[in-house]
Amino acid sequence: MKVWGADGKEYLDFVGGIAVNVLGHCHPKVVVAIQKQAQRLIHISNLYYNEPQIRLAKLLVEHSFADKVFFCNSGAEANEAAIKLARKYAKENLPGKPFEIITALNSFHGRTLATLAATGQPKFQKGFEPLMPGFRSVEFNSIDAIKKALTPQTCAVMLEPVQGEGGVNLPSSEYLRQVRELCDKYKLLLIFDEIQTGMGRTGKFFAYEHYGVTPDIETLAKGLGGGCAIGSMLATDKVASAFQPGNHGSTFGGNPLACSAAIATVETLLEDGILLDQCRRMGAYLLGGLNSLRREHAHLISDIRGMGLLVGMELAREGSKIVSSCMEQGIIINCTAGNVLRFMPALIVQEKDIDYMLDILDEVLGRLA
Ligand code: PLP
Repeated sequence: MKVWGADGKEYLDFVGGIAVNVLGHCHPKVVVAIQKQAQRLIHISNLYYNEPQIRLAKLLVEHSFADKVFFCNSGAEANEAAIKLARKYAKENLPGKPFEIITALNSFHGRTLATLAATGQPKFQKGFEPLMPGFRSVEFNSIDAIKKALTPQTCAVMLEPVQGEGGVNLPSSEYLRQVRELCDKYKLLLIFDEIQTGMGRTGKFFAYEHYGVTPDIETLAKGLGGGCAIGSMLATDKVASAFQPGNHGSTFGGNPLACSAAIATVETLLEDGILLDQCRRMGAYLLGGLNSLRREHAHLISDIRGMGLLVGMELAREGSKIVSSCMEQGIIINCTAGNVLRFMPALIVQEKDIDYMLDILDEVLGRLA
């Protein structure tokens, strides 16, 4: 849970590499997996499969809706793969060769040119126009907004089950189910971007499990490698079959070093479900503590929301000063969407860590008042 600055100052980390360090920093199982793999084989061309890659793919398939897995190196790359696969599948399987993907306002899907166009936040797109065509962003959590945006050119809907960068926005439980039904009705693909919500972050291995809705394609990155750079796209056999050898690839994608780190991370996360259970309990504890702060500082705090250990505190003012004041006192938190303090600690966080952080936040908020 801790990191130290160059001056030796200690910090308690409630950002966790922006939802990356799910097991905390330098978890011994991840460290040993990297050490062992580094002595054996660091890289081999993607003309061949390698053993850790296959073992990781098997683990992900066994614990998800998916039949096939593609590996890359980041979240944006995983979403690029998903966008390409959706387009290729639609070209080959749907009448009229549709290509448009409906995404949500306030979503975040990455900073490459396609994922920037998919991201429903103009502030990230400004200066990089013209945007790649083929995306329409509509209000999140509104099935009517998606229905209105449907055209004969639509091939897929792409959503984060809980919006992270957009301010920790949770949809209603019916929304994702209704989106699935709509996709089935019009033969559209449903893509879940679980780059931030996956890997146990919300208290289940994947956030879609809370909603009982499965996608056709899902993307992962962030927590997957326990700190190592790796991304992946999961898909059903039917959809994955649209990709033929040569259609897509990545030199470093699926390299044995990152895959070994990811195997250690996934196995540790899923071991007896202890960490997922801890995530749910600590998430509830954190929400409870933040709600107490809300009662004390009602004029500063307008909402508390979250799922598992992806938690947001919406402020009635801009949040960056609070983040820097907490940092001065040895607590790392984050502010997203301008006024939402975001807490994404490692899943190993304990009550005493949360209490310590809440005491400092209480003091910082008190000083602002
Ligand atoms: N999708 C979501 C939901 C994210 O939160 C992020 C990063 O914050 C990305 C995609 C992009 O991932 P990366 O920064 O690894 O490219």
